[in-house]
Amino acid sequence: MTAGQVKDIFKRSDLPFPRSLLDFQRLFPDDYACAKYLEAARWSNGFICPYCNFRSEPFRFSSRPGVLRCRSCRNDTGLTVGTVMERSHTPLSTWFWAAYLVSSQTPGISAVQFQRQLGLSRYETAFQILHTLRAGMVRPDQERIGGGRASHVELDETYVGGRVRGKGRGPRDKIVVAAAVEVRRRQSGGALDNRKGGRYAGRVRLTIIPDRSALSLSEFTTSADVPGAKIITDDWSGYADLKRLGYRHKAVAERGDPAVAEKHLPIVHLVFSGLKNWLSRTHHGVSPQHLQAYLNEFTFRFNRRFYPFNTFRSLLGLASNAQAPTYENLYSGEWRHPTCSGYMR
Ligand SMILES: [Zn+2]
Repeated sequence: MTAGQVKDIFKRSDLPFPRSLLDFQRLFPDDYACAKYLEAARWSNGFICPYCNFRSEPFRFSSRPGVLRCRSCRNDTGLTVGTVMERSHTPLSTWFWAAYLVSSQTPGISAVQFQRQLGLSRYETAFQILHTLRAGMVRPDQERIGGGRASHVELDETYVGGRVRGKGRGPRDKIVVAAAVEVRRRQSGGALDNRKGGRYAGRVRLTIIPDRSALSLSEFTTSADVPGAKIITDDWSGYADLKRLGYRHKAVAERGDPAVAEKHLPIVHLVFSGLKNWLSRTHHGVSPQHLQAYLNEFTFRFNRRFYPFNTFRSLLGLASNAQAPTYENLYSGEWRHPTCSGYMR
């Protein structure tokens, strides 16, 4: 897939996305319709054989809708190559349902709900599909935040309760999550805009960090925020290096006073409470091993919250060439969930 094709995917009106269940039924009645969609995504003017460049209507097989065979050289081309569905034995329509349900439900969908809704025999299949979609939610070329329309960035860290089988909920199971949120200001100054001083959230970055040290927080900051951005934090000593790193840093003495937090760091605190609610209500807590994948999904939803349906095509990985985990990768611990900012420890 070339860079030109990647850009095109989101502008092409011949690749509609479902906005309702009825839309979905009409667009994707079966695996064959899903295959046609993948074919159209890859070749906007009809199939061209990648082996011999022959341009012609290929052979199609009703038993293998995801495969096209060239009439000239007789080589088979898989339609899922380069998408999150590559090498999967799950029917295309199941993947399309997953992308639809994940993009259309405000809080997304848990693996248990997904398994039930589609009548999948194995929980593991549902679990793997959703994690694969999450891997496709992280764009490898993601830019750092805090430039452009942002007036500043609120940066903070929090503990997220990990759930470890056979262990109590002691503090050692808690994981440190760092967040950076762009703050923007509404220009018009209407009644609505006066709440929170007209401030609202732009993009967010969320990453697990090993601890609250200055080293970890500095690394997170430089991976998430553009150089020179204005950053507001509390006065924790872990943020002491931000000025030296070239940021315009303002440290607010919070000292547990909620009024101070509400005044200076309101948006990042909203993000943290939204994140924790979502983890416990939709997913009933998640294991530390997979927490970063859920942070990625939360980030993806948050950053696209004003146009949820548009995400359908990016979820299928039609434009991203995302690396996807196998079931064995997920459970062996071999797979590392990508981070939003490229930050990796
Ligand atoms: Zn050929």
